[in-house]
Amino acid sequence: MLGPAAPPIALHEPEFHGREWEYVKDCIDTGWVSSAGSYVDRLEREFAGYVGAEYAVATVNGTAALHLCLHLVSVGPGDEVIAPALSFAATANAISYCGAIPHFVDVSILTLGMDPAKLAAYIGEIGEMRSAGLVNRVTGRRIGAVVPMHTFGHPMAIDPLKELCARYRLPLIEDAAEAVGSTLQGRHCGTFGVLGAYSFNGNKIVTTGGGGMIVTNDPALARRAKHLSTTAKEPHPWEYVHDEVGFNYRLPNINAALGCAQLERLPGFLERKRKLARAYETAFDNVSEADFVKEPEGAQSNYWLNAILVGRCGETTIRDGILNALNESGYRARPAWRLLHKLVPYMNSPRMPDLSIAEDVERRLVNLPSSAHLADRLA
Ligand SMILES: *Cc1c(COP(=O)(O)O)cnc(C)c1O
Repeated sequence: MLGPAAPPIALHEPEFHGREWEYVKDCIDTGWVSSAGSYVDRLEREFAGYVGAEYAVATVNGTAALHLCLHLVSVGPGDEVIAPALSFAATANAISYCGAIPHFVDVSILTLGMDPAKLAAYIGEIGEMRSAGLVNRVTGRRIGAVVPMHTFGHPMAIDPLKELCARYRLPLIEDAAEAVGSTLQGRHCGTFGVLGAYSFNGNKIVTTGGGGMIVTNDPALARRAKHLSTTAKEPHPWEYVHDEVGFNYRLPNINAALGCAQLERLPGFLERKRKLARAYETAFDNVSEADFVKEPEGAQSNYWLNAILVGRCGETTIRDGILNALNESGYRARPAWRLLHKLVPYMNSPRMPDLSIAEDVERRLVNLPSSAHLADRLA
């Protein structure tokens, strides 16, 4: 359906056909390329408006955004943080930067994100409410937060998870790194939790080269996010006074300029990516050995990465044969991430005994080339 792949067709490529060059040139011409400048404020304002959050704070990348979110809700050394076994390493790494330990749980086959019902049953077994909050009775550690992730841009079932978090007084931090432009019941992913984190890495739906964003509706958290991301320096025209251990996590103005131009293009990207997704869906309609991953009911996915599940649950995998064939013919398809509890740094992390859905997805998932411009090849 996409035609010959010579030169090869990438998994996801950025596209700069808007005002990117104009805005970046403006930074260079005016000398405002670094840690101050009007594009940072503008990107924060426009992004907050786009997702419908009160406040947005730009960061140097999505991992830093996630780290700061966890730090802001007081996740600290010795805490456990609940995260899906199926995610990019950054989700677990951000937890580790706080000195905390990720606790991996299973996902749903319908959303590819955390399964709130399964998590509720699991917490019922291992959790105990104490004065410090929810504690894992098995390890004796406090559970400091829950970090769901919206896989490939498909919104996970956030409402039941939100209820669960309220019941156990757990801060809900959304890893919405892949979900810029995705909504659930009309509300933007990343705005359901106390804080949400996004990524503008080069392979994401909009890019600033490298970059990220934190959103929240809490003015105190927003103020502290900005303060901590800018070295915790007290405002003063010439004195350098820092009132706590801060981070150098702010987004440079030149990257924000790129982001402002990309954000203008986002509605067009979303439209073309939906067109491409529909074409994939139709193409796989009559293929019994491959199920196209559709957006969950009630959700509007950004279809950041299209995916199919190949073969049947529990069968020997046909995935590698398909990946080989696609890559040899120039289509840069790839498998899901190696599950987090199988990575060397996280092999000893606590986890749900039954991670069978995540395991099944890992065995069967294939991501397909998903750049917006591929929609222009379709008839
Ligand atoms: C991309 C991504 C991140 C991190 O973003 P960077 O900007 O690359 O640091 C975090 N979580 C998930 C799920 C991602 O896909």
